[in-house]
Amino acid sequence: MNIYFGDLHNHCNISYGFGSLYNALEEARNHLDFCTVTGHALWPDIYERNENTAFIVDFHEKGFAKLENHWDEVRKAIANANEDDGFITFQSYEMHSSQFGDHHILSPDDNLELVESTTPTDIIEKLEQRAIAIPHHIAYSPGYRGISWKDFNSSISPVIEVYSKHGCGMSDDSCGQYLHTMGPRDGRNTVYEGLKQGKQFGFVASTDHHAGYPGSYGDGITAVLSEELTREGIWDAILKRRVYALTGDRIRCDFTVDGQPMGSEIPRNDAHDIKLYVNAADAIEKAVIYKNLKAIKTIYKEDIPVGKKGPGRYKIRVETGWGRKTNAFQWVNSVKVSAGEIIAADPCFRGQSVLAPVEGEEFSKDVNSLGNRITSLSKDEVSWKCKTFRNPTTRHSATCAIVMEIKGSPETKLEIILNNKTILSDIEELQEHGISGHLQTYNSEAYLIHKAVHESEYCVDMECIKTSKSGDYFHGEIHQVNEQSAWISPVYIK
Ligand SMILES: [Zn+2]
Repeated sequence: MNIYFGDLHNHCNISYGFGSLYNALEEARNHLDFCTVTGHALWPDIYERNENTAFIVDFHEKGFAKLENHWDEVRKAIANANEDDGFITFQSYEMHSSQFGDHHILSPDDNLELVESTTPTDIIEKLEQRAIAIPHHIAYSPGYRGISWKDFNSSISPVIEVYSKHGCGMSDDSCGQYLHTMGPRDGRNTVYEGLKQGKQFGFVASTDHHAGYPGSYGDGITAVLSEELTREGIWDAILKRRVYALTGDRIRCDFTVDGQPMGSEIPRNDAHDIKLYVNAADAIEKAVIYKNLKAIKTIYKEDIPVGKKGPGRYKIRVETGWGRKTNAFQWVNSVKVSAGEIIAADPCFRGQSVLAPVEGEEFSKDVNSLGNRITSLSKDEVSWKCKTFRNPTTRHSATCAIVMEIKGSPETKLEIILNNKTILSDIEELQEHGISGHLQTYNSEAYLIHKAVHESEYCVDMECIKTSKSGDYFHGEIHQVNEQSAWISPVYIK
């Protein structure tokens, strides 16, 4: 099976976000395999309007009405963007609920109807089109738009969004705490808590971006295992939970129990053969196989010999951005490789980050009209264009990057051209250290050619044998040294 990457939940100005739908689809097509753009549609138990809640209530109600008034046009634009074997789109809209938590309704049918109801189950039952309801930002406080585990219904929700711009909802201990104005994470509403209660679901991640840049790097994407890049193929994989959640880096994973893929439900056995193969995008900090949330096999960075040299595969990340200008800065970049060949290049592109409307803040429909994309890729050369902005705080990145996988050796030479700057290096030097530099003399846009990572540090092949009883489950997690992660959907024992 192939692995495809996409975003199943993000917003633009079709409701109360920013940026046009047409641009969001265009930007998505430039770096994702599949995507939806979600309108905000309803909030049945919204707060009563008073002087404290007026801003919140008003922007929601205005957004819902806007979506309803343009629903035909929205569905048509999303339907027209779908192209089998190229770029797959889905229809979707979002329901807020203080009681049941927020859900987005996702459908492969272009005639998806906007349905009013007070519960997500009722919406799915009323719809004549195929649809699921994906709970998201589940770890907000119970009754405060976090998930309600007692009402969770896996027949309408085969997957849960475990990571987005809101943060990570896996467990009390997972990195990526909730920092939005909606408040902190609550341990009772995490993924681990649901699994402990015996709920069954797969893991996805999406950005929940609010300014029309689906798949913005670092905010969450979903990986899908499918034989083909078609709407039916991706849909079938989501229903079967053949999916996993990624923060941003395209960590390739294969996780099987007795040969059955992630998301499966399989019969119990005295000696399950559990396998996890990982091709990460950076050095692995740790890779773990869990049974019922307890680690049964772990590989730590310290277990992996570092600095292995010689012929093999290497990952090299070229990152550009920084600077002090608030407006967009255009990069036109390329890398030429000799005495080696490029076998893959992954985009790590970002849009301007917006999570929800803020009083007094407005963005134009072109806010994320950036045109970030890999423009050409061959075994000798990769070229890409991207626009970056200054980092919003000293702890938040707004850079863009690509990650190349190169088949080569310490002798492999790289000619890196970043706008008018040329940097010459080779894998031998880059295995020793990364290289940074600036385009101008003071506070200017800058670049970082990351340290080259040998395949022994980013690929692992793990296997273990374990018994089980009914109700057990196995899942995997990968954390890289750069703090990017993957959470792999469990295999459940019948
Ligand atoms: Zn949302």
